[in-house]
Amino acid sequence: MENVNATFQYCDQLVRDFEKVITTPILNKSSVYYTGVDLGTAYIVLAVLDENYQPVAGAYRFASVVKDGMVVDYIGAIRIVKELKQELEEKLGAELIYAAAALPPGTVTLDSGAIKHVVQGAGFEVTNVLDEPTAANAVLKIQDGAIVDIGGGTTGTAILKDGKVVHVDDEPTGGTHFSLVISGAYKMSFEDADQYKRDFKNHRELMPVLRPVIEKVSSIISRHIRDYQVKEIYLVGGTCCLEGIEDIIAKQTNLPTYKPQNPMFVTPLGIALNC
Ligand code: ATP
Repeated sequence: MENVNATFQYCDQLVRDFEKVITTPILNKSSVYYTGVDLGTAYIVLAVLDENYQPVAGAYRFASVVKDGMVVDYIGAIRIVKELKQELEEKLGAELIYAAAALPPGTVTLDSGAIKHVVQGAGFEVTNVLDEPTAANAVLKIQDGAIVDIGGGTTGTAILKDGKVVHVDDEPTGGTHFSLVISGAYKMSFEDADQYKRDFKNHRELMPVLRPVIEKVSSIISRHIRDYQVKEIYLVGGTCCLEGIEDIIAKQTNLPTYKPQNPMFVTPLGIALNC
């Protein structure tokens, strides 16, 4: 790739702006708000954009209502989305009407509308349900290559040709497994291990412990892309916040591997952009 920084310029700016409005929402009245609802295995994230598709508010909560892309606690999911919606409405002093949601790769036929019903059940008018890689690429704007989303529960791969998703694959193994490995190695509870893992100060120390699970993720990626002429890999998802994960994946897959400054909120923002 000629200039990786230029490629991630829009993404990095959008995510930086979003991180700011999570703590300090922008209260200038917009004629309309677009909300992206990302129902993940580890987090539920709501990203709110204004009429110009700029981030104005956001909220997220740790939740166990989705497993491997499927809603396993339907009532719990509605409750959390409703609470986050209300919290953001109070902060913005405006009603959030429209929302888009996304499905992980490979679950589109299995989901039977559950994610859409959760978002509707929380009081939104659902304008779009799209697949997660397409959402992520609304922010990354990649023409060719593989987008790999390493989230809490799964590793999802999307192959892009001329800016369009031509193939998707998803497999269980994600950040939850990383936390389980730390929990075992350090004799910590899962919650403590997850928190320890999320602290950037600990990443260097954790690398030897996490290397085998990163290599397993790399072998999943290699399998997902083997029938395609992929020349570059782009990482998104919270687990890719781990410093150095891109180097191990690059070495194992033998492909240049890039990630934006903060890979965590790329998909929720892409969902909101498609609202
Ligand atoms: P999925 O996509 O599998 O449904 P999700 O959407 O909840 O799950 P993300 O929000 O993309 O997934 O990522 C959540 C994972 O990222 C969790 O396992 C979390 O521990 C991990 N994570 C978040 N921040 C960091 C960090 N700073 N360092 C390492 N891991 C992190």
